[in-house]
Amino acid sequence: MPPSAQLPAAYTELASYLERGATLQSVAALISWDQETYMPPAAAAHRAEQSSLLASLVHQRRTDPRIGELLGSLEGDAALSEKGSAELAACVREARRDYDLATKLPESLVAELAKVGSQAQEAWKHAREKSDFSAFAPWLEKMLDLTRQKAKCYGGAGGGAGGGSGDLYDALLDEYEPGMTAAQVEAIFTPLRARLTDLVTRVRETKAKVDTKVLDVKVDPAKQHAFGLRVLGAMGFDLEAGRLDTTAHPFCTGIAPGDTRLTTRYKGDRWTDALYGTMHEGGHGIYEQGLPKLAAGRRQAYFGTPLADAISLGIHESQSRMWENLVGRSKPFWKWALPIAQETFGKGLSKFGVKDMYAAVNTVTPSLIRVEADETTYNMHVMIRFELERALISGSLKVADLPGEWNARYKDYLGIKVPDDRRGCLQDVHWSFGLIGYFPTYTLGNLYAAQFWDKINDDIPDLSKQIAKGKFLALKDWLNDSIHRHGRRYRAGELCKKITGKELSAEPLLRHLTEKAEAVYGI
Ligand code: ZN
Repeated sequence: MPPSAQLPAAYTELASYLERGATLQSVAALISWDQETYMPPAAAAHRAEQSSLLASLVHQRRTDPRIGELLGSLEGDAALSEKGSAELAACVREARRDYDLATKLPESLVAELAKVGSQAQEAWKHAREKSDFSAFAPWLEKMLDLTRQKAKCYGGAGGGAGGGSGDLYDALLDEYEPGMTAAQVEAIFTPLRARLTDLVTRVRETKAKVDTKVLDVKVDPAKQHAFGLRVLGAMGFDLEAGRLDTTAHPFCTGIAPGDTRLTTRYKGDRWTDALYGTMHEGGHGIYEQGLPKLAAGRRQAYFGTPLADAISLGIHESQSRMWENLVGRSKPFWKWALPIAQETFGKGLSKFGVKDMYAAVNTVTPSLIRVEADETTYNMHVMIRFELERALISGSLKVADLPGEWNARYKDYLGIKVPDDRRGCLQDVHWSFGLIGYFPTYTLGNLYAAQFWDKINDDIPDLSKQIAKGKFLALKDWLNDSIHRHGRRYRAGELCKKITGKELSAEPLLRHLTEKAEAVYGI
């Protein structure tokens, strides 16, 4: 970015418009975080009104015709790339995309989506508690209807987002993973599923049993929280510019410069679930904190613009998965972390060693809950949701048939019986918010993470040794420098090629998972 004195006046004005919209959006993010963490239940009805009003105001800001005029003027400035920089041109390109998408949605639909989404989320919470799908079904029906309307506005019926494929699902996917289509996802997922199924079968057929007693050690949630904070600090998550709280469903929200919030959940047993939730969300948080949100003296040129924004959910997820799985489930990590866990948690862990930890956190065991799934079968959970949500949007699957279809696929792909909807199709919050087209980005993240990881290890040959000493700075700096600082300058596929020299491929992930399963099970 050139010094602000040389920035075109239209760009400075555009950045100021975008910043005001983003500031309003940060208030919406804050009340949404509050709804998930500390809001008393009786506040739910009014919170829906607040969320809806804010969504309308944010929408008005984002669709202000002046933004369109400024973009037109910048796009018409032939000398822009010489005057400015490639960053500036990328910023205009991405701001155009955001503006075009926002102006395709009527304000009434945006407000309705926010209001019904907020109500449906409450309905989902109660339905999940009681494992009562019929209580959630009408809300899911409403959200699907509104989401289809949104996809049609985006151009799912031809042209616009999703590359004009005419597929409503493509228009939704494009919102989270710009430029990617359902057909491309399917082309990656279909062979991946076949090879993962083979791997899972090899593990199930082996006689080898992994001792996971170390995970059964009961640990007080307060001690788990203290341990989680220690790991987050070592990873380089800035706790002066963020916090860690407790929720039903772990998440990270980058609210504003200096304010990135993480949540996790604690249970008396399986203490590693909370740790991996914390490391996962911490990976998202480090990405948010690494975005160039606050450029000293030129704040308006960044915050609110696409240069201060994450590329896609797939790339976001590559960051969280890398810390959770490639770092957190490795032997070097436990060489450093186990003595600290033993010191923090007391006696229960003292008889276990690094080998026990490594084997226990790398078992391959088909299970019911996505967020607690192992690294290998996790991807099967994602594929099931991708297939089902695509069918729900197209209408080929009726809402009433969702539980049956869900359970059938869990039997088919993972070989397990779903005992109730709480542990079945009611387990995830996403669909209640209208987040459809979002799930595949989780597995895309795993794929990107494994591909980046190979390159990182080439660039930092002693990374394992550093991790074994609790030194994560070289890794964090690499991520900051290669990925975070660019904002949305590159699209996901472009960034992948720039960093690794190759298109996204399933091979690095498959190799990593196979090597691990072979080491743990001796297969
Ligand atoms: Zn995530």
